[in-house]
Amino acid sequence: MLEVVQVPVLSDNYVYLVHDAASGETAVVDPAVAEPVLEAAAARGWRITQILNTHWHPDHVGANAAIKAATGCTITGPAGEESKIPGIDRAVREGDTVAIGAETGRVIDVPGHTAGHNAYHFASSGLLFCGDTLFAMGCGRLFEGTPEQMVGSLGKLMALPDDTLVYCAHEYTASNGRFALTVEPDNAALQARMAEVVAAREVGRPTVPSTIGLERATNPFTRAADVADFAARRAAKDSFPG
Ligand code: ZN
Ligand code: FE
Repeated sequence: MLEVVQVPVLSDNYVYLVHDAASGETAVVDPAVAEPVLEAAAARGWRITQILNTHWHPDHVGANAAIKAATGCTITGPAGEESKIPGIDRAVREGDTVAIGAETGRVIDVPGHTAGHNAYHFASSGLLFCGDTLFAMGCGRLFEGTPEQMVGSLGKLMALPDDTLVYCAHEYTASNGRFALTVEPDNAALQARMAEVVAAREVGRPTVPSTIGLERATNPFTRAADVADFAARRAAKDSFPG
């Protein structure tokens, strides 16, 4: 089983250390900054052997060069975004796999937030690293893709098992939940989840990871009736005050 350590950085980013005890391998997912990530690994005696990037935005690749220089790790990122990913060694797309020790992760193409956005699914440990595609009760903004693409991308992720842990890259849950309640004010699962989220944030606890099952029950973007309904919700969220 892979062990995940969540490192909160910047105002609301999460960087993940993913460790395989048997091999001693440690992957870093979406390193925005280097120092706290290197410290979290060192504190555990873990050696960083690779970086997995979900997409090219600076808050996901910002520390690629520094961590590679410090550790000699390799860098894997999405095909099509190679030119914007510092230090990339291997470009992957759907159909490719990545490995952390003996555990294999499947690459899933999830365009929408960016054109080449990847998600990484480690089925044996039940982990999904989805960057800025699926958030707890939300989804990424459509900077380089269409509503149709994002609906397809979210559909691929929602096909994963309900108990899959969803490790997204931002703590946006409280704002997402406030918006979700405007869409589905009578959704009891959503009301209950939001109460838990508010309590967690009051004491500074993370609300991530989520699960696919929770997103199926409470996320207004995975619950849209069709592409037009999704697009209307996404547009409304874009101008939602928070
Ligand atoms: Zn992004
Ligand atoms: Fe981001």
